[in-house]
Amino acid sequence: MASSSTNIKRTILNEDLSNVEFETSEDVEVIPTFDSMGLREELLRGIYAYGFEKPSAIQQRSIKPIVKGRDVIAQAQSGTGKTATFSISILQSLDTQLRETQVLCLSPTRELAVQIQKVILALGDYMNVQCHACIGGTNLGEDIRKLDYGQHVVSGTPGRVFDMIRRRTLRTRSIKMLVLDEADEMLNKGFKEQIYDVYRYLPPATQVVLISATLPHEILEMTSKFMTDPIRILVKRDELTLEGIKQFFVAVEREEWKFDTLCDLYDTLTITQAVIFCNTKRKVRISDIFLRFLDQNVFFFFLK
Ligand code: AMP
Repeated sequence: MASSSTNIKRTILNEDLSNVEFETSEDVEVIPTFDSMGLREELLRGIYAYGFEKPSAIQQRSIKPIVKGRDVIAQAQSGTGKTATFSISILQSLDTQLRETQVLCLSPTRELAVQIQKVILALGDYMNVQCHACIGGTNLGEDIRKLDYGQHVVSGTPGRVFDMIRRRTLRTRSIKMLVLDEADEMLNKGFKEQIYDVYRYLPPATQVVLISATLPHEILEMTSKFMTDPIRILVKRDELTLEGIKQFFVAVEREEWKFDTLCDLYDTLTITQAVIFCNTKRKVRISDIFLRFLDQNVFFFFLK
């Protein structure tokens, strides 16, 4: 069952994302509907049952080339529909009769790896697909048992996945696609060596799909080592704002002026409800106490 926040996001995507402008390779086709993507019937059923009606901009451009076997670099962040982009492509590329790992998906966090597994299982609900989340901090024996049973897709974090490959529990001979999700985050977290280690064990013709919010030097180095003639697709975050919502900013020159500025805003505007994000717990505490004292209906969040 999807959460209400997921539903809200879906609505935003339905209304908005298909109009996002892209800077992409020239030969990228735009496919406006899931129906015209040539996807298998049981996958289409899974997509519609999940609640998607129309492909988001990145899906309109990326699914077809990935399914065709092209290497793809998608510069996209969360909120663009990136997870479903590669999940749908993965599901379309599988031979479910073959009980061997055919796709490996690496992500920077355990939560993300599990989230991807859930999306693949949900979209592949009518396909009898096996997808395992291979992540650190879980029981090794259970991992081994699940992999021995046979998993079409493995979604995991680089450390545990490499461990499983080295133990030969995760057999790589049938792998035909490697997905690197949030590649820049994986490098930030120091996973570079493990990603290279994993890559060395994959069959030489493995297709690579890389998703990254930014493309710093190290990522470009990786793409030049791992990928062949990749297609590049870019979706920009600031183009994803829902129509009808106006955004403003106040340029506050000094950190210590921020709170006074916030109070000025409260003095001049009628704010019935607000959510305020801060970067330290301390700032949350001070501001929260003060504004609650003024009887304001406000929620503070500390982003770690
Ligand atoms: P992501 O970019 O993968 O973080 O996805 C953001 C949100 O958009 C998730 O809640 C998805 O379920 C949702 N989403 C992805 N593709 C579509 C689509 N074609 N239509 C509606 N919602 C979608």
